[in-house]
Amino acid sequence: RKHPNMLLNVVVRVRPQTQQEQEGSRHAVVQVIDDSMLVFDPEEPCLSGVFTGFRGHDAPKRKGKDLKFVFDQVFGESATQEEVFQHTTKEILDGVLNGYNCSVFAYGATGAGKTYTMLGSEKSPGIMYLTMVELYKRIEARKEEKSCEVLISYQEVYNEQIHDLLEPKGPLAIREDPEKGVVVQGLSFHQPKSAEQLLEMLASGNRNRTQHPTDANATSSRSHAVFQIYVKQQDRVVGITQDLQVAKMSLIDLAGSERASATNTKGERLREGANINRSLLALINVINALADAKSRKSHIPYRDSKLTRLLKDSLGGNCRTIMIAAISPSALAYEDTYNTLKYANRAKEI
Ligand code: ADP
Ligand code: MG
Repeated sequence: RKHPNMLLNVVVRVRPQTQQEQEGSRHAVVQVIDDSMLVFDPEEPCLSGVFTGFRGHDAPKRKGKDLKFVFDQVFGESATQEEVFQHTTKEILDGVLNGYNCSVFAYGATGAGKTYTMLGSEKSPGIMYLTMVELYKRIEARKEEKSCEVLISYQEVYNEQIHDLLEPKGPLAIREDPEKGVVVQGLSFHQPKSAEQLLEMLASGNRNRTQHPTDANATSSRSHAVFQIYVKQQDRVVGITQDLQVAKMSLIDLAGSERASATNTKGERLREGANINRSLLALINVINALADAKSRKSHIPYRDSKLTRLLKDSLGGNCRTIMIAAISPSALAYEDTYNTLKYANRAKEI
């Protein structure tokens, strides 16, 4: 297991197969071995997670690559939202309370479970909600020593434009402030009074996400939703002027990675293709550059997209980052799952 102070933790979450997938092809192509290892495309096919000796013809693309992957954590299809939160974001909340910016992003193809993990459903809310609940708990526990203020913002990066999801208006500009860091001009900040109110804000923000006139899913798969939590704290010491400490946590539901299939090309910067999302490409390149920077000084291309400019003060440096790679176990998602695993494996080097 890696030291908890590592810059980037990479975890994988395997979602359950849908009804349709089970009907289309019964064999899963991902076998979770334990809480840190999985096998992609196992030699012995598995029937909904259970080994069988049967080698049928119903797994269209199964090739028997039998590749073992090890990550900081692997969550199987039965993992709950709470478990995923406990072993990922909860571990870096202390970092935020100690004044470090942190980020958590869900990476993966459309349909792999990114939105479920970050936002979740009304019945099982995801990391965005669970993080806020835990944060309020910790602040309450130490309110005698520290005064604390929490603000949130929720924005979308779509088509290289930033939109406020909580107070929709025209596209917003980013600038870098020498004191405040990255600033999105005109972005609204909110102070939810309760967990319920936060859920309402997230729901209303999601209603404001870009809708494509013909194909809503295709569009949502190209937009990045960025939820940010700002924590301002000051020690409660009588008679001494204390420094104000500000840190932020960014929780990001990324655009679908399905067109980023060249991401495994080691060391080589990806070029923008006809369809691949520029911000996603730039983020991949920034993470690759951070991985390279460990051994030799290299330029980190934050300026290449809106998303990476937005996250410039939250990726690299002292910032702790968690990448949650979401995958489908279905044979129907064979290539997407393979590409996501290869990319997540590469990101581990950071
Ligand atoms: P993405 O955001 O990556 O495109 P979604 O999060 O929308 O994918 O997930 C696709 C479908 O699978 C949704 O219907 C979602 O509710 C379901 N799903 C994803 N992950 C899980 C999970 N861990 N448990 C149950 N259902 C899930
Ligand atoms: Mg989604």
